[in-house]
Amino acid sequence: MSEYPNTRLHINGVWRDGSNEPLAIINPASGEVIGNVSNAGSNDLDEALAAAAAGFQQWRQVSALERSKLLRKAAEILRGRSTAIARTMTLEQGKPLAESLAETLSAADIIDWFAEEARRAYGRLIPPRARNVRQMVIKEPVGPVAAFSPWNFPLNQAVRKVSAALAAGCSIILKGPEETPASCAELVRAFADASLPAGVLNLVFGIPADISGYLIPHPVIRKISFTGSTAVGKQLASLAGAHMKRVTMELGGHAPAIVFDDADVDLAVRILSGAKFRNAGQVCVAPTRFLVQQGVYEKFLDGFVKAAEAINVGDGLKDGVNMGPLANARRIEAMEALTADAVSRGASVAIGGKRIGNRGNFFQPTILTDVPLDARVSNEEPFGPMALVSTFADYDSAVAEANRLPYGLAAYAYTTSAKTSAALARDIESGMLSINHHGLALPELPFGGIKDSGYGSEGGTEAMDSYFNSKLVTEAT
Ligand code: NAD
Repeated sequence: MSEYPNTRLHINGVWRDGSNEPLAIINPASGEVIGNVSNAGSNDLDEALAAAAAGFQQWRQVSALERSKLLRKAAEILRGRSTAIARTMTLEQGKPLAESLAETLSAADIIDWFAEEARRAYGRLIPPRARNVRQMVIKEPVGPVAAFSPWNFPLNQAVRKVSAALAAGCSIILKGPEETPASCAELVRAFADASLPAGVLNLVFGIPADISGYLIPHPVIRKISFTGSTAVGKQLASLAGAHMKRVTMELGGHAPAIVFDDADVDLAVRILSGAKFRNAGQVCVAPTRFLVQQGVYEKFLDGFVKAAEAINVGDGLKDGVNMGPLANARRIEAMEALTADAVSRGASVAIGGKRIGNRGNFFQPTILTDVPLDARVSNEEPFGPMALVSTFADYDSAVAEANRLPYGLAAYAYTTSAKTSAALARDIESGMLSINHHGLALPELPFGGIKDSGYGSEGGTEAMDSYFNSKLVTEAT
């Protein structure tokens, strides 16, 4: 497919090949190789590090107003190219075109929001104990950043890191997703075409472990941001810790969705089924454990199965398709293994559970019931179109199950009781809780987890703060 562009590295303002052999890109809807991505060696990384070091010295001098204007310009460029970028994203990642377009437009909104925040990076004055003393806290950019973004949202995982870093005055080396590189590269192109100085934003691809192993300990790098699995996050966080680097970790989840007897069940079915199967379930905040109170269990399950049945799975470029293939063959293997394990332990398949065809990575929207707690999928993030529905008797048992796992990213609840909502806000162990709607991931909202789901935030003012040092200046006159 010639319409899919090959992707190159962007180092010190130049698009170029890497010194290693390029990596192939596969369209997950067809299994065909559609292009390649350049593969950085350590000499390329050295150049990126030198560029980021010089780029930081230059960019930190640029006023907040000018940084803000440049970010806005990049957002406009990205918006203007959204139709073409969406097509590229669907070719490499598989999600339906409408989802790719929404992701691209939302990436532009995220840049705009951080552009505004760039101008509001206020420090503070602290009342002194003596009349002649002035005490100031000044926010300064932390320095060159190494960021690692994954393949499930090729643009939207990268844009949060890049925009916050640039808004704060940091330079950045982004290691983009090797399996879905071209749409991510369009983000970098938008900034380059908005005249971001060379070296401020560098893009590399390659062997992930080699790149993180080289960049994280390097003295030029002052801050690490990673989005991906908990297992890899723990390795990178420990490496960063050994080198005293600031870290943001946005890791896996296993979100509970609690539906109480007093809920608007139709609303819960409509919103939760949309959230479950969006991007074929390859979403860190996707609801996975559906905990439904006894009185509405049958009605909820019936509606949920009908919603899954109505999903049209196919090539994301085709009209009318609302769930694409899984992004890579590893996810098919994972779905098959998790289903087989759950069934062997007594789970029932309410719908789905199987691969579709043998060309491309298509898998049926899957709902499992009676899944025992020792099944793998009750404990591991499925990261695919798989939901577990179980029933509960009372509030305490629902909360105990919701909090059972070491994950703590997102949680959802449906209830018309203000008392129950308030209790959930107090009792649920997660970084984000959305009640009676799906209200996560807007640029102005904090986005991040607790426990094994990571730390730090990828949204809201909290995201900016993680790219700043606070410097105290105290002066006697
Ligand atoms: P994986 O754990 O190998 O990789 C996950 C991500 O981390 C990928 O983007 C990969 O390129 C990157 N990565 C892996 N090893 C790395 C290293 N040593 N240094 C730097 N980056 C590294 O698994 P996978 O098969 O690609 O994805 C499956 C799992 O990853 C899922 O089950 C899910 O838990 C997690 N994941 C989470 C998110 C998220 O949004 N939080 C996104 C993608 C994947």
